Amino acid sequence: MLKVRETTCKTLLNKSKLADFTLNCYVGCSHRCLYCYARYMKKFKDRPEDWGYFVDVKINAPEILAKQITKIRPPKEVFMSSICDGWQPLEARYKLSRACLAILLEAGFEVSILTKSSLILRDFDLLEAYKTPSLGMTITTLDRNLQKVLEPYASETTERINTLKKAQGKGIKTWMFLGPLLPEFCDTKANLEAIFRALEGLNLDRIYVDRLNPRWGVLESLKKGLSRGEYANFRLLFYKSTNPARYSDYSRQLKDKTLEYAHQFNLSDKVTFCF
Ligand code: SF4
Repeated sequence: MLKVRETTCKTLLNKSKLADFTLNCYVGCSHRCLYCYARYMKKFKDRPEDWGYFVDVKINAPEILAKQITKIRPPKEVFMSSICDGWQPLEARYKLSRACLAILLEAGFEVSILTKSSLILRDFDLLEAYKTPSLGMTITTLDRNLQKVLEPYASETTERINTLKKAQGKGIKTWMFLGPLLPEFCDTKANLEAIFRALEGLNLDRIYVDRLNPRWGVLESLKKGLSRGEYANFRLLFYKSTNPARYSDYSRQLKDKTLEYAHQFNLSDKVTFCF
C-alpha cells in the first residue's frame, strides 16, 4: 500500500555534482527498486513506511520553481530527478514534473531527464519543442523475471528502450544509463550481450555504466528482495567494506566485460563509466 502525502516546499532547485542543479517534485518513489540509492532520504523523513512505500508530493513545486529561477541566470543544467523518478505513476495525476519542465525550458535552462517510465511519452511535445533537453532511460537487465524483482513497478525494459526509439524519431537527444549492474545478476556475459545487442543501432548520445554501491541500506534491501526463490544464493562477496578485494575484482571485471560487448556492437566510443 502506497502512502501519499501532499506537502509544500520552500526551494526546489538544489546544487549538485550531477548537474548544476537537481530538481525533485517528489520525495519517495513507488517504482520500489531494490537497489535504490535514494533510500537514504528516509533518514530525513519522519515516516513509518519503508522506502518505496511512501511518496511526498510537493504540490507547490511549479510556483516555487518559477520564483527560484528569477535568481539564476541560464543556461544552467538541471537534472530531473535525483531522489525520485519524476515520471513515476503519481506524476500522471499531479503533472508537477511536466509543469516544472515547461518552466525550465521556457526560461532557457538545459534539462536532462532520467527515468524508468514510459509516462515521459506524454511530455514529448515539450522535449521536441526545444533543442536542449535530453532524455535518458535506466536499464539494468533484459531478463524480464529479474527486472520484475529488481524494479517491480517501473516500465518494462523493452518499453523503456522503445520509448527512447520514439524520442529519437522526434529528434530528441537520448542517452542510456546502465546501472547499477549488480554482481552475479546484471554483470553476466549473457545480460551484457543482450543489453548491447538491444542498443545496437540506437543513435544514443552516451551510454553511462555504473556499478552497485552498497550503501545506505541498499545491501539490506537487496538481501531481502533477492533472498528467495531462484535468488536464494545471493552472496555478499562484493560488499565493499567487508571484502574490498572482491569488490574491486567485480568493478574491474565489469569494466572489462562491458567494453568487450560495447566493442562487439560498435558502441565503445559511446561508453562512459561512472566509477
Ligand atoms: S526509479 Fe530511481 S528513484 Fe525510483 S525507486 Fe527506482 S532507483 Fe529509486
